[in-house]
Amino acid sequence: MKQQTPIRKVSLKRQAAIDAGTIPKYPVRQAIKKVSAKRAAILAENPNAFRKVPTKIREVKITDTDRAGLIKKLDSLFSKYIRNKYAVNGMVKCFTCPTVLPIARIQNGHFISRANMATRWLEENCRPQCPKCNGNHEVNTRPFENALIGEAYGSVEYLTDLSRRTTRISTSELIYLIEKYKT
Ligand SMILES: [Zn+2]
Repeated sequence: MKQQTPIRKVSLKRQAAIDAGTIPKYPVRQAIKKVSAKRAAILAENPNAFRKVPTKIREVKITDTDRAGLIKKLDSLFSKYIRNKYAVNGMVKCFTCPTVLPIARIQNGHFISRANMATRWLEENCRPQCPKCNGNHEVNTRPFENALIGEAYGSVEYLTDLSRRTTRISTSELIYLIEKYKT
């Protein structure tokens, strides 16, 4: 027995339209987006109302140059802070000698050298010093040490211990400290 091909039933009207080429032979399924009345009303007013705005997340890369800039800024703010902290009526006494100088001329002396990041911006490690004493500290740390001992027992050991720790100061720490010492 010969197998019969299934015949697709198409109305005469439809077949005529297909033959004329006004409609495609096979109906094209179109995805109909169902939109609620409320949504449609909003869309009528603003067609872009529901369009997702791509959020640009830009990665902020902090270069070494930026870090150097932050360190410089923090040094400057911190120095100003220390000099003001010990000022009396705009004048500051050197921590290691009787010299008294205006805030602008006194310096921020570090007991543990500024090269050490663990103590560079530590208030306990810093005192105002006249330029002469600050310069002299590079060759003789004794006067600063004696003055610290005179202030508080154990502070020299405390600062020395801290300085032995390897500290890598993060950029966020730098930013935080800049904010802290900003006046
Ligand atoms: Zn001095």
